[in-house]
Amino acid sequence: MIKTENLVFAYEDSADEVLSNINLNIEKGSFTAVLGHNGSGKSTLAKMFNAILLPSGGKAYVNGIDTSDEKRVFDIRRSAGMVFQNPDNQMVAAVVEDEVAFAPENLGVEPKEIRARVDECLSAVGMTKYAQSAPSKLSGGQKQRVAIASVLAMNPEILILDEPTAMLDPMGRKEVMRTVKRLNKEQGITVVLITHYMDEAAEADRVIVIDDGKIVTDGTPREVFSEVEKMKSLGLDVPQVTLLAHELRALGVNIPRDTLTVDEAFDALVSALGGETRD
Ligand code: ADP
Repeated sequence: MIKTENLVFAYEDSADEVLSNINLNIEKGSFTAVLGHNGSGKSTLAKMFNAILLPSGGKAYVNGIDTSDEKRVFDIRRSAGMVFQNPDNQMVAAVVEDEVAFAPENLGVEPKEIRARVDECLSAVGMTKYAQSAPSKLSGGQKQRVAIASVLAMNPEILILDEPTAMLDPMGRKEVMRTVKRLNKEQGITVVLITHYMDEAAEADRVIVIDDGKIVTDGTPREVFSEVEKMKSLGLDVPQVTLLAHELRALGVNIPRDTLTVDEAFDALVSALGGETRD
């Protein structure tokens, strides 16, 4: 779905490479989280995936299309929908359903088809009952779900989310993560999630860590987070449960180093203490 070959990028007014020699292959239907401390190049990389920025060197392909092909920018943008941090900056309409209809209207989709898409996309993000509401009246999590519905209305194959929960409260974060996971699992939409929340990254199939514009770690959440010291050296945390397992291991407790969830930690501890695990 997304492929980069020796991708290099520098902003025009700077000689410094923000992305260096990125070789990446993101499979159709996968859910990839991108981690990295501030300024490591995550947002810049995300912008390569829908041709907001073009490589200074090397190549980026989206759904097989070379992003440098100016004639295909429209196809790329439609294929790879992007959701940003601040939902307020993404809203243009005064009513939720008009917001979702906006992109397909601009694409010249038939009115009947627009109606169907709006209903389908609002339902996919669990916002059907707010179709007639004013976006300004919604909570942050609800606004972000409307923003996702607006992107879905273009029928994208890839959803790229750049810290979509950074401005939300814990409830809003949960709503958005649940929605994103469902779209990935039930509709097969390829997801690239940029986040600085480790618990969100733990929900992905794959975690990529960027540091200083380079991919430094790439694996399943279990593989990546079990390297607690490496993550710390990159200025990143690991999920709290994994950290607990790490510290217990240092105290001699026999608990797997790749423990990721509370349930796993519970079972491992019961077993380490000689009890019986739950079914
Ligand atoms: P992240 O998303 O990981 O915080 P960014 O991709 O936003 O990182 O930034 C990577 C680097 O590029 C940083 O050093 C940042 O200062 C620089 N940068 C980001 N946007 C611009 C821009 N528009 N012009 C020049 N430099 C930029």
